[in-house]
Amino acid sequence: MTKIQTLFSQIPATHRLLCNAAFQPLLEEFGHTRVVAVLRTLQEEARAQINDEGQLPGWCDDWCHKVHDTLLTQQCSTLRPVFNLTGTVLHTNLGRALLAEEAIKAVSEVMSSAITLEYSLDAAGRGHRDQTVAALLCEITGAEAACVVNNNAAAVLLMLAACAEGKDVVVSRGELVEIGGAFRIPDVMRQAGCQLIEVGTTNRTHLTDYRHAIDNNTALLMKVHTSNYHIEGFTHAVNEAELVALANEADIPVVTDLGSGSLVDLTQWGLPQEPMPQQLIADGVSLISFSGDKLLGGPQAGIIVGKKKYIERIQQHPLKRALRADKMTLAALEATLRLYQHPETLIKRLPTLRLLTRTAEEILAQATRLQPLFTQRFGAQFTVSVDHCLSQIGSGSLPVDRLPSTALTFQPKDGRGATLASLSQTLRELKYPVLGRIADERLWLDLRCLEHEALLLETIAL
Ligand SMILES: *Cc1c(COP(=O)(O)O)cnc(C)c1O
Repeated sequence: MTKIQTLFSQIPATHRLLCNAAFQPLLEEFGHTRVVAVLRTLQEEARAQINDEGQLPGWCDDWCHKVHDTLLTQQCSTLRPVFNLTGTVLHTNLGRALLAEEAIKAVSEVMSSAITLEYSLDAAGRGHRDQTVAALLCEITGAEAACVVNNNAAAVLLMLAACAEGKDVVVSRGELVEIGGAFRIPDVMRQAGCQLIEVGTTNRTHLTDYRHAIDNNTALLMKVHTSNYHIEGFTHAVNEAELVALANEADIPVVTDLGSGSLVDLTQWGLPQEPMPQQLIADGVSLISFSGDKLLGGPQAGIIVGKKKYIERIQQHPLKRALRADKMTLAALEATLRLYQHPETLIKRLPTLRLLTRTAEEILAQATRLQPLFTQRFGAQFTVSVDHCLSQIGSGSLPVDRLPSTALTFQPKDGRGATLASLSQTLRELKYPVLGRIADERLWLDLRCLEHEALLLETIAL
């Protein structure tokens, strides 16, 4: 036998390995099909290495261990819990709002049992799935009616399709928004089968611009909240109340895509002001849409509140069926909205508000506690300091406002060969990956969103 042949003969046959006692627990846990599939791949890998390098891979000493490792890696979800220390509280790529305990409990209940989703117990007939949530939304916002779909993008599409298909929708040129992820107002218009009529200019739009655009084919006047940018300087925009007065003369509705919206006045906690759906309802806007997982602090959902006449039209549109929310979303949203019925405890129980209202002092104390422990782990290569920083709310809410916060920062020590890229990789490869951001030649870990301090310490110590 040549050397190569000897090496090939050392790759064990599948049936031999499978009889091996060590493999029995694997077969039990992962099933015959997957174990065999992984084995075949590994055998091929071993053959390739013999051909390429003239030797067996090191792991061939313990096939069972290698198969187990590979199976575990394969089944590790790519949806991993991480520490969001990026400084952006509502981070779209990290799943936006964290749910309140009450919402998590409600979701867990509806997952494991049959529920009265579209069934009313007293009449033993069919109820509407949005009913309970809609009643809460009406109570909180003062709207006549409400409905819920998958996300706010869906809500906007549905409002347009139900109220303006084949007709014109008038929007200011200053509000032709693009939200990340290919949501652009002109494209959504086209998808909904509406004709976009742009009025005004990027920086200034007047009531007369809207007035001149209205004709027999106008179905809606639309306002879009410029949630992720800010136009400053020589500017003018028409507010909802003025627009409603004009729309009433022409007997057409005003619709607002509010983006985030807040159901409570954030300024009471010293936070920047964000428009509230309540106010727009009071201004007479016919339909307002906003997200469930932005400032509201609930599950991903698109919420539409407004006049009964238009909400009914939306409920009956075929797209509503395609975009409707599922029972888990409705349960989480209902539980979240109930927290708003008790505003005094809201900032304790709603994680989004709890994080946004953490004070700079509180975060500073936390950073001071953690700094020595991070120095212990990373101090050889990096100077670890406690630094003032600014958090952002994120998800297109209040784009220019920042919240004072504190970060741990890491600066490479000269000549030690350590780089910020290697540090952020090390942090990403921890059991619970730690995500920060790199700016000004440092890595910043903004501690605003750090609630599980003990878990972070445990993760760093590993
Ligand atoms: C965020 C946002 C959307 C999209 O909402 P999703 O819930 O992410 O679908 C649409 N319009 C505006 C103005 C927004 O801010």
